[in-house]
Amino acid sequence: MAFLSIRDLDLHGKRVFIRVDFNVPLSKDGGEILDDTRIRETLPTIEFALRAKAKVILAAHLGRPKGQRVESMSLRPVVDRLRMLLDADLGASRNVAFSPDCVGLIAEELVSNLEHGQALLLENLRFHPEEEANDEGFAKKLAALADVYVNDAFGAAHRAHASTEGITKFVAQSAAGLLMEEELNYLGKALEQPDKPFVAIIGGAKVSDKIDVIDNLLNKVDAIIVGGGMAYTFLNAKGQKTGKSLLEADKIDVAAAALKKADDKGVRFLLPVDHVLADRFAADAHTEILDGTGDFPDDKMALDIGPKSIEVFVNEIKDASTIVWNGPMGVFEMPAFAKGTLAVAEAVAGNVDATTIVGGGDSVSAVHMAGVEDRITHISTGGGASLEFLEGKTLPGVAALTQK
Ligand code: AMP
Repeated sequence: MAFLSIRDLDLHGKRVFIRVDFNVPLSKDGGEILDDTRIRETLPTIEFALRAKAKVILAAHLGRPKGQRVESMSLRPVVDRLRMLLDADLGASRNVAFSPDCVGLIAEELVSNLEHGQALLLENLRFHPEEEANDEGFAKKLAALADVYVNDAFGAAHRAHASTEGITKFVAQSAAGLLMEEELNYLGKALEQPDKPFVAIIGGAKVSDKIDVIDNLLNKVDAIIVGGGMAYTFLNAKGQKTGKSLLEADKIDVAAAALKKADDKGVRFLLPVDHVLADRFAADAHTEILDGTGDFPDDKMALDIGPKSIEVFVNEIKDASTIVWNGPMGVFEMPAFAKGTLAVAEAVAGNVDATTIVGGGDSVSAVHMAGVEDRITHISTGGGASLEFLEGKTLPGVAALTQK
C-alpha cells in the first residue's frame, strides 16, 4: 500500500487519535445500540494501539445532529459497549473514559490524564458545525490532542471533514488503521489488478446512483450484471416497454450509452431475461413470470428477476475469479421478491475460488439474510465510500494519509 499504516508507527506512550466509524443504529431515544457491527469491525485497530501501549483517543460521528448537541445522538452508549467488547477480547478490565465534548478544556484534561494502554472516546464530532465544514481552527484543536493520527473510518473517508481530512495537516503522521487498510487493499486490487475473469454485479433502485460506478467498471470488467429497479431503464433503452416498473426516463440515454460502451469494449452486459411481475407494490401482490423481450402489461411492475435470469447470472458468477457486488436484484425486503437477490448471494459465496467483495447496505443485508457472510472474502463497511471508490474517485480521507 502506498500509504502509511498503523503498523508502521511507533505508538508506545504516544497520544494516538483514531478516527473510527461508530455510526451505529440506535433506538429512537438513543439509549440502546441495535447493531454493534461497526464497533466490532474496528476493534483490531483499537486493540493493536492499546497493546502497543499507546494513549488512545477515539473520535467518531453519529447520525446527523447538524452541528448541535442532540442527546439522542450521543456516543455515550457506545462507551459501555466498547468496554464490554474490549474486556472480552483483552481479558483485563480496560477503563475506557468518555469526554462529553470532543474539543475544549474537558477533552484536553481527560487526554492528559490518559495512561499508556488506556482509551478515551470523544463525544460526537458533529455536535460542532465546524466538523462537517472542515474548519481549520477546529481541525487544529483536534490535532492538538494527539501526536499521531490514524484513520480507520473507511465509511467516512469520502467526506473531507475536519476529523478525516483537516486534522491531517496539523499532525506529523497520518496512517491507515487495519480496517481502512483492508478496505483499500481489497477494493484497490479489484480495480487495479483483478484476477480475471472479473464480474461486477450492480443492482438497486436507481440508475442515477450507480451509473458512474457502471461507467468506471466497464473499463475493468469482463462482464457486468445489472439487476434491480435500475435494470428497467436499461431494458427501455433496448426498446422493451416495462409497464409500471421503476423507470428513470431521463436516464434512458445514459443507459443506452453504457450499453454501447460495453459493446465497444467487448464487455458482456447481462440484464434480466425474465421477470417477476406484480400487480402492485406489496408483499402479498398477485405475481406472474414474464419471459423474454416482449413488452410488459401496462399495469404490471417487475419486482424481482425471474428463474431464467437467475440461471444466467449464476452461470456467469460461477466462472469468475473476481466479483464485486453492490445492490439487490429486486425488492428483497419482501420474501416474495427476494429470490433473485438471495440466489446471487449464494452464488457469490459459493464461488470459493474467487475474491468476492460485497458493498452497500442492502447487499450486505442480503448476504446476512442468506447466512453466507463467512464465505465472502470481503464485506465492505462503507456504503457511500465504497461506491465512490468504485467510481474511481479519490477519497479525501484516503488522499490525506501520509505517503509511504
Ligand atoms: P439502492 O439503495 O439504490 O441500492 O436500492 C435498494 C432498494 O432498491 C431496495 O430497497 C430494493 O427494495 C429496491 N429495489 C430493488 N429492485 C427493485 C424493483 N424492481 N422495483 C422497486 N424497487 C426495487
